[in-house]
Amino acid sequence: MTNSGSSEAPRVLVGDDLPVPCVDGIDRPYVNLDIAASASALPAVARGVEDFVPWYSSVHRGAGFKSREATRRYEAARSAIASFAGPDRAERGDVAIIVRNTTEAINHLVYRLRIEPTDTVVTTVVEHHANLLPWTRVCRPRFVECGTDGTFGVDDVVAAIEAGNKPRILALTGASNVSGWMPPLDEIIAAAHDRGVPVFVDAAQLAPHRPIPAAADFVAWSGHKMYAPYGAGALVGPRRAFEEGDPFLVGGGAVDLVDLDAVYWTSPPDREEAGSPNVIGAVALGLAIDELTAIGWSTITEHDDLLTRRLRDGLAAIDGVQVLGPTQGTLPLAAFTVDGVHHALVAARLSAEFGIGVRHGCFCAHPYLLRLLGLDHDTVHAYRDAVLRGDRRDIPGAVRASAGISTTPADVDRLITAVEAIVHGGPAPVTYEQDAETGDFWPRSDAPGWGDAERSVGASCARG
Ligand code: PMP
Repeated sequence: MTNSGSSEAPRVLVGDDLPVPCVDGIDRPYVNLDIAASASALPAVARGVEDFVPWYSSVHRGAGFKSREATRRYEAARSAIASFAGPDRAERGDVAIIVRNTTEAINHLVYRLRIEPTDTVVTTVVEHHANLLPWTRVCRPRFVECGTDGTFGVDDVVAAIEAGNKPRILALTGASNVSGWMPPLDEIIAAAHDRGVPVFVDAAQLAPHRPIPAAADFVAWSGHKMYAPYGAGALVGPRRAFEEGDPFLVGGGAVDLVDLDAVYWTSPPDREEAGSPNVIGAVALGLAIDELTAIGWSTITEHDDLLTRRLRDGLAAIDGVQVLGPTQGTLPLAAFTVDGVHHALVAARLSAEFGIGVRHGCFCAHPYLLRLLGLDHDTVHAYRDAVLRGDRRDIPGAVRASAGISTTPADVDRLITAVEAIVHGGPAPVTYEQDAETGDFWPRSDAPGWGDAERSVGASCARG
């Protein structure tokens, strides 16, 4: 893959094109179409991490030169995170908290907002479990429903906000990890603010593709989805939300004074980051932000739009393939089903025969996927009973192909040709067996990488 103009990928990621074994014994360059799950590192991120490793040291805990340097780099990453969340965040007095990932950020936020069982939160049926379960654990949210195309409008959000008690917060995704749909965030945030309701945006999918809406009160995202796969994420929000009360995690670094019967918490962000931080992850996230900023949103959006059309139109044109969700306003991502072929078998064949990596299953968004698939009540109950008995063979699902900054039109074409071959190309060259416990398929083959001994590292995508 080369950097040769707007129709080509603007950057090549570490590990792109690695040869992977296929069941015919041939190694093929890997086509990574599972970028929405985790993206490989940008070269500048990998190089920057390598350069930083010799300087790795304790953060905010040492007078030595290396500690000072590690602290400087950690705090520089924090500044980059705050600016990435919106140009005027610093002036607004927002604080950037460095966490593990989006899931941790949302659990952190729910704890810090002190959501009570009697509180009202508005969220949507489109959410990833990470933006569903932390809220439903503590209260009964009001949900914004979606239509059969998997979208909702500003009016639907307003109706949910106004349907009862004033919500403490509206929590919604910036982009769906299932359909790639981007809700009209600016209008939704403005409508919520007009009604005095603060907004949290789950930017896990949005962050590598579009600017984070500066008007959102709270935002969270993960480094590993934006080409910084070293385990750091961010939660950004108003400082006042973190100034009172005990933090989510308690321990060293979060306090000014401790006695056996008293504690004086320090100020945010340190108050929110007890324990030694993941300084390498933070540095990597800062570097990825610098790199994406240098590439620029217009280059990224242009590349995304080209791939989105090619991917979604190409798949939709195959007889027997259904692309889920709306036809417009999505990221370069497509979840699809193949008539008469199990989603896990499609994913297994793409990997084993074509060297293409996709995700399949329910994508940690069960309520949304069931709606997009339009499953009736009896089907849902039947598969749930089976799963509770430990049998995942009939779990509903789809296949998801997702593209990123280094995906080329040729990568997308390879997927489309492979799906076409699976649907219309006659029987598979090898037999595939389904595992009842995971629901996954595995080829019967002696080819390198595909023997029975390798089977334990199967996809298990049915879990989520
Ligand atoms: N929200 C969305 C929309 C996601 O796609 C994901 C990851 N699939 C998450 C939240 C959770 O992110 P993480 O696993 O990095 O915590």
